[in-house]
Amino acid sequence: MPSSTTSVTAVVPAKINLALSVGPVRVDGFHELATVYQAVGLYDEVTVTRRNPGSGISMTVAGVEADAVPCDETNLAWQAARVVAAEADTDPDVHIHIVKRIPVAGGMAGGSADAAGALLACDILWRASLHRERMLELAAELGSDVPFLLHGGTAVGTSRGECITSAMARGAYHWVFALSDRGLSTPRVYAECDRLRTGAKVVEPVIPAGLMEALLVGDPKRVGAELANDLQPAAISIRPELDMVLEIGRDAGALGAVVSGSGPTCAFLVADDEAALDLAVSLSASGLCSGVARAEGPVAGARLTDS
Ligand code: ATP
Repeated sequence: MPSSTTSVTAVVPAKINLALSVGPVRVDGFHELATVYQAVGLYDEVTVTRRNPGSGISMTVAGVEADAVPCDETNLAWQAARVVAAEADTDPDVHIHIVKRIPVAGGMAGGSADAAGALLACDILWRASLHRERMLELAAELGSDVPFLLHGGTAVGTSRGECITSAMARGAYHWVFALSDRGLSTPRVYAECDRLRTGAKVVEPVIPAGLMEALLVGDPKRVGAELANDLQPAAISIRPELDMVLEIGRDAGALGAVVSGSGPTCAFLVADDEAALDLAVSLSASGLCSGVARAEGPVAGARLTDS
């Protein structure tokens, strides 16, 4: 990349949790998690462009839900740019433009994806030459899901989700997503999960052995049957209609149906393109979701584009 480079673009996928096991609350306030992530082909685009010295950071966001995304220092991509500038020992004079295609507050880690994209793009823009390990450390400080969005593919996440190990996984998976135009706050869903478990013994989180075996052999039917999310009862408790959305998928013959992360997006694993199309039609006709998206997984994590 020439030193005169003024603009760098990264594309970053969304994630779903094939399994999300939520353990006890830790002393730092986070829940101990064991999760199996998969990166799926819904992409945000993050472009960083040099600004004049002393200009600082500015940001614009485009896309369907752009209005719901903050364009200030609370945006995770803004924070990522600041962190890379500090590592590169340079001033963070940069404009960040995000094209959102990942649902906002949808349980698919869109904000974390943008942070991963900004880390990667700013590293190139400012020639920070961060080692992969350092970038993963910075990612983990920005948010629990950010390291996975750099990693991509299918991977196990432990601790609060930021410790990533590649999963032995075969096969390509067809997903259909039921979207909602009313996002769910992740802290609120965790709080509801805690409330629903009041008085119950909360055990250490586990990675389901059956899911890992199904991924190892690449059997979508078994993977579908093993989808699991401890946050699902909490998301449904806040948004009861999500139960009906999941039911539509099961009735339509989906191999598996699960709330994605903290919701409200619902993810359906289907056998092929034809099944995906049929389910998309049923979901759209139900009037219970604001839109439907289709994607394949697993896909690569954050990567730079040629432009
Ligand atoms: P989580 O990763 O916590 O599960 P999510 O995937 O459900 O979150 P996000 O799309 O990441 O949801 O957004 C959660 C909130 O974070 C939004 O409501 C928004 O206020 C804030 N936010 C900060 N940065 C971004 C960003 N780059 N894109 C979208 N939302 C962002």
